[in-house]
Amino acid sequence: MTDSASLPRIHQLSAALANQIAAGEVVERPASVVKELIENSLDAGARRIQVHIESGGSRLIRVQDDGCGIHDEDLSLALDRHATSKIHDPAELMGIRSLGFRGEALPSIGSVSRLILSSRYQSSDKGWTLRCDGSNIINARTPVAHNVGTTVEVQDLFYNTPARRKFLRTDKTEFGHIQERIQRLALSRFDVGFELFHNQREVYRLRPATDEQAMELRIARVLGKPFMQHALRIDFEASGLRLWGWLATADFNRSSSLLQYFYVNGRAVRDKFVNHAIRHAYEGSGFTGSHPAYVMYLELSPELVDVNVHPAKHEVRFRDSRLLHDFICSSVDRALRDPAAGDRQCIYNSAPVAPGKIPPQVRPWQVGEDLAAYTSLHNHTHDATGPVAVASPQAGPLGVPRFQLKHKYLICENNTGMVVINISAARRAILRQSIREALSKKEMTPVPLIMPVTVSLQQGMANIVENNNDRFTSLGMVLDRIGENKIIVRQLPSLLGDAEVASLVIALAQLLASSPNDAQLQECLVTHGIADEAERMSARQMSEFVREVERNADESVWSQLGLQDLEKL
Ligand code: ADP
Ligand code: MG
Repeated sequence: MTDSASLPRIHQLSAALANQIAAGEVVERPASVVKELIENSLDAGARRIQVHIESGGSRLIRVQDDGCGIHDEDLSLALDRHATSKIHDPAELMGIRSLGFRGEALPSIGSVSRLILSSRYQSSDKGWTLRCDGSNIINARTPVAHNVGTTVEVQDLFYNTPARRKFLRTDKTEFGHIQERIQRLALSRFDVGFELFHNQREVYRLRPATDEQAMELRIARVLGKPFMQHALRIDFEASGLRLWGWLATADFNRSSSLLQYFYVNGRAVRDKFVNHAIRHAYEGSGFTGSHPAYVMYLELSPELVDVNVHPAKHEVRFRDSRLLHDFICSSVDRALRDPAAGDRQCIYNSAPVAPGKIPPQVRPWQVGEDLAAYTSLHNHTHDATGPVAVASPQAGPLGVPRFQLKHKYLICENNTGMVVINISAARRAILRQSIREALSKKEMTPVPLIMPVTVSLQQGMANIVENNNDRFTSLGMVLDRIGENKIIVRQLPSLLGDAEVASLVIALAQLLASSPNDAQLQECLVTHGIADEAERMSARQMSEFVREVERNADESVWSQLGLQDLEKL
């Protein structure tokens, strides 16, 4: 800072400005508005959603639904920041079942447009409307003729933020993004009808799809026939996880990632981890192209996934990412190697078309729905099919896993005899390898923890942590000092998702006291990056684990006992 400069006094931001700042994250372009509004309609239990766009969304975006509507007295509250009907207390953050929950979308959109919100609540005999202009509510609610449901009209997006308006591309490009968003949402809820109009012309009308045949027709409509003609139908479940959907055979290659649709509990996500698992499986089946194509749905208990990672919520964080990686990778691998393994046939390509089984709908919990009923519905689908068989053991040098000893050793049988793998040593070798790769590719990126962890340590140690903030940052860790002997850890790289956070930070602080080099720091991450607990692996996990050990570890983590050695015994 220059010597004459001093900062002005601190003041509270106005609501309008705070909303515009939040809009920077949530409202990137017209397509993000469309996504937020449709998600609200889906959360409200809509069965039919109509979207009208004018001039690529810069002039008008109108989303109309037949959901439960907004209570007459809550209409203006819906436009307030941090006002939501979807969560009430912190515990609910751990198992989010609705698409929205941050209470940010409507106020953010309202702060950068002219917004008209009209709604009729399900038990109300009339509708109400409210108009807001750049976050200032400019009229009191007035009655309006409206069916039960909600209409949000967004006019002149970014009219008051010229810098952002300049970033808008041509109407055609913006409309292309809108269409892509709607497609992504349309494939998340086959049971809901979607209609899209651009400049008053109908672009498409997707009727609710209630059986498998109709679902496949919707996919063909949205993603094109060639995809469906190459699609394999999969449905696998194990350990409370279910992966179902359609994936293209390994000979179907696309030049872009546009045909990659992945949903976690009904929410479209883009996740490096998931991509990696899928790619890995494709490569194992001889795929040499750049972008495999798929529409896949992962279902798991909402408690096992943290969706509060990104304001637009297209990133998630899994509590047991390794298990998920293995599950996704081995399911896709199995389907590609043995198309009949997917357990269902893709009806699209078989003639004559037979009505298929109706797959359980993946749909998020809806406002007002009984939680217990929702959960039992989903648990029921998990029980319906037995567990997945072990992924085909394409045995490598370490052979086929036979059993686990004391949760500590894995005993395998190979051509030479028997192999004993030390599980925790092998896990560390794998982690060491991943950390090395991530650091060299600068991919140790921090991901927020849903609950930041407070670590108590001696004052001297806390000083060391504070003074070495850059080194923590370079390892993808975000932490702050919050007291004489307290540190709060807010973000960690996902590779360290299994770490016992407090002991990791203390070990790093102790090491930093002796000015370590980078290699020593990395080794400390490896040593403390895995919680040391005994674990029982399923058959499939064992087999995936052995393959991973072969790829990433060396003989220091296993011993081979030949038949001759055994005879001597
Ligand atoms: P969030 O979805 O995170 O709760 P929003 O700002 O998107 O936040 O919406 C605020 C609130 O307005 C929602 O919690 C919901 O109660 C209400 N709301 C918004 N859109 C609709 C809709 N289409 N139908 C019914 N209620 C809605
Ligand atoms: Mg919302």
